[in-house]
Amino acid sequence: MTILERKLFGPGPSNPYPEATSALGLPLLGHLDRAFVTLMDETCDMLRQVWGTDNARTLPISATGSAGMEAAFVNTVSDGDVVVVAVNGLFGQRMAEVASRCGAEVVTVEHEWGTPVDVDRVVAAHPSPKIIAAVHAETSTGVRSDIAALGAAKGDALLLVDAVTSIAGIELRADDWDVDLGYAGTQKCLGVAPGLAPFTINERAWERRVERPRSWYLDLGLLGGYVGEAGSRGDATRTYHHTAPVAMVASLHAGLTRILDEGLPAVWARHQAAGALLQDGLEGMGLELFAQQGARLPELTTVRVPEGVDSAAVRGELLDRYDIEIGAGAGPYAATVWRIGLMGHNARPDAALLVLAALREVLGR
Ligand SMILES: *Cc1c(COP(=O)(O)O)cnc(C)c1O
Repeated sequence: MTILERKLFGPGPSNPYPEATSALGLPLLGHLDRAFVTLMDETCDMLRQVWGTDNARTLPISATGSAGMEAAFVNTVSDGDVVVVAVNGLFGQRMAEVASRCGAEVVTVEHEWGTPVDVDRVVAAHPSPKIIAAVHAETSTGVRSDIAALGAAKGDALLLVDAVTSIAGIELRADDWDVDLGYAGTQKCLGVAPGLAPFTINERAWERRVERPRSWYLDLGLLGGYVGEAGSRGDATRTYHHTAPVAMVASLHAGLTRILDEGLPAVWARHQAAGALLQDGLEGMGLELFAQQGARLPELTTVRVPEGVDSAAVRGELLDRYDIEIGAGAGPYAATVWRIGLMGHNARPDAALLVLAALREVLGR
């Protein structure tokens, strides 16, 4: 097999932190080994820090971010429950679809793609929803929405947040913002390979959960007994539910250690600086950014494909000549927008300059 060293500057996965990659090669532990239980406990502690939460029930679910989404809805939605979903891109649409399959009466609040969530319209959409759901960082459009404002306005509803592309990239404070439950993914700004879904749920949401969710694998009640909760240290309380992806947890542990050693504010600032450098450079080349000014994510930049340029051909040349992957647009913007991610280990000035130089060269020919 040919080993390719791609620069993953698309919407994810991103190139993992070297520490996270190294950890994948460590000798495997048994999934009930005392040493692994400690590793899992420490991983959950570090996840609490990147979520900005004290929630005892904070754990990595054994599957990708979309499984976190499924877990969130399947554990909280009973038939006929009203779920208001703010839709300003592909992942909002996916939340509406998943909630609907879980039996919810879904009320979507549609937004123009490229714009952030309008909190007033979302809270006005229904007088007493069980859940209000929104995406913090819409990877399909490169837009950040104001979760703090949504938390302040949600009333009695549970606030469910998709933090897949925001966690460890931009400011995220689940407790301060009154987020009741949320899910994330490892392969975006956390800088770890895809495979786990960091999840958190507070007491308020836990008390309103579905006792016997239709999914056995994603039943948080069963997962809690297996992963352990804060305060239940040691292996005595752990019971087998499924075989944890041991190597992935070790890798996440290493990635989180790397992030917290640098310091979360420093990590956020690094993403901000790399994104600004890229976005200024793209505008300097005469290109037009897609996401609304003031709501642009630093970690995921959307830029319009210039008139007359073949989007796929440019992406192909970047890959073939420079080993650089950037993403096509999502949904209706597949051919007219590019998505450039500088996430996790790639949130660096040299990466920003590299993709700018390569794009300038390919567009010039
Ligand atoms: C990537 C992504 C997901 C889905 O995660 P997978 O790991 O692909 O399952 C969900 N929401 C957002 C905002 C994402 O960027």
